[in-house]
Amino acid sequence: MKVLKFGGTSVGTVESLGNVKKIVEGLEGPAVVVVSALGGITDKLIATAKQAKEGGDSYEEAFRAICDRHHATAAGVLTAEAYKETEPVISELLRKLGDLYKGVSLLEELSDRTLDSIVSFGERISSVIVSRMISDARHFDSPSIIKTERWHGKNIADVELTDKLIKENFGKEDYKIAVCGGFISRDRDNNDITNLGRGGSDYTAALIAASLGAEELEIWTDVDGFMTADPRIVKTAMVLDKMTFVESMQLCTFGAKVIYPPTIYPVFHKNIPIKILNTFHPEAPGTLITDECTDNLPAKGVTALKGCALIRVAGSAQSDDSDIKNRIYKALSRQGVNVLLVAPQRGDSFSLVVNGADGIPACEALENEFAPELSSSQLKGVELIENLATVAVVGENLRRTPDLGLKIGNSIIEKGLKVIERATGGSETMISFVVDQTDADATVLGVHEAIFG
Ligand code: ASP
Ligand code: MG
Repeated sequence: MKVLKFGGTSVGTVESLGNVKKIVEGLEGPAVVVVSALGGITDKLIATAKQAKEGGDSYEEAFRAICDRHHATAAGVLTAEAYKETEPVISELLRKLGDLYKGVSLLEELSDRTLDSIVSFGERISSVIVSRMISDARHFDSPSIIKTERWHGKNIADVELTDKLIKENFGKEDYKIAVCGGFISRDRDNNDITNLGRGGSDYTAALIAASLGAEELEIWTDVDGFMTADPRIVKTAMVLDKMTFVESMQLCTFGAKVIYPPTIYPVFHKNIPIKILNTFHPEAPGTLITDECTDNLPAKGVTALKGCALIRVAGSAQSDDSDIKNRIYKALSRQGVNVLLVAPQRGDSFSLVVNGADGIPACEALENEFAPELSSSQLKGVELIENLATVAVVGENLRRTPDLGLKIGNSIIEKGLKVIERATGGSETMISFVVDQTDADATVLGVHEAIFG
């Protein structure tokens, strides 16, 4: 069995949904099809919620546009008979959504919990439309199957419970095609509607593929495959035929928008291949992601993750070093901060790179942890530098191309760009460094040229 995930652009228009129908109906089955909200709808659901929060009825026009888009799409892809049956289901979901907006507008208040409920309607409705469009398909309610728990103020998948529920619901294979919404879930303790984070439909599909031991996870999108760089920045970027789980994970963690990063781990763990395919060009071979590296490319790609922050703990190198480092990691992990990179000791400071949003909480956690050392001047201070980008060059063959680092370094100097901090020790398959955010695109372009010509 296979798991196929179709992203927002794939389910975004009547024409693209026609392609989805052809692709899915061509399968021998059984398969689980995971869908995103119609392209752009999640953003619209959020923007309309913010508008409703301002009070009054000015949000109503945007809400009506959301309703019209769903009805028009359903009417465009379903037979007259199927539309007649489905229309009341869609209308009922939209009525509930309208009630939520009304409540937000009356209270002029929008909690995270309400917003999570509002955004869930994108996938709740798109999955109904797709399930009715495909012959021999059955709809499954993902919030009853995908469960989250609270962790440092975030919702994260409860992988164990979700695994059990996926097996119970999809494991019997008593369907030809199962269709469910990606992204959406429920809290295991209070049953609130939650989600797996923006872009999370990929992750839903990966959890299902891993639990069912699928033969393949297919991610259907709007590009021909994984590319060596973002083609909007690098015109000469190439589609890769193959890459490894580790390469895709590193590139996605550092800014490649192809797959939501948490997606890769569950399937990697079970060694289930991922294929990146183009709904608009289904005959293209796509990119196959497995655990084997069989090519000779010096690197697989160059990416930049914008909005990073660098934290320097000054004076940390003087005292008992490993103890300070352990305490840094522990304090950050208690705060739920994910460390993206560790930079080598420069002078007497030790530096880390985190997501921009984590910068201030991370500094506060470190200032708390080291309050005694800071007041006795054993540590000089915790410094935060924002608006940076982490550039990553990734490839299994970097292990065998020791001079590539030098080539990359030279290309950066030649372009007059500046590396603020370089990472070390993280991985043999990645060279990464931090630049000013305004230099990110130029650095990606220069480094791509140096590697691929
Ligand atoms: N619809 C959600 C989003 O736009 C999830 C997804 O498409 O993966 O973030
Ligand atoms: Mg996506």
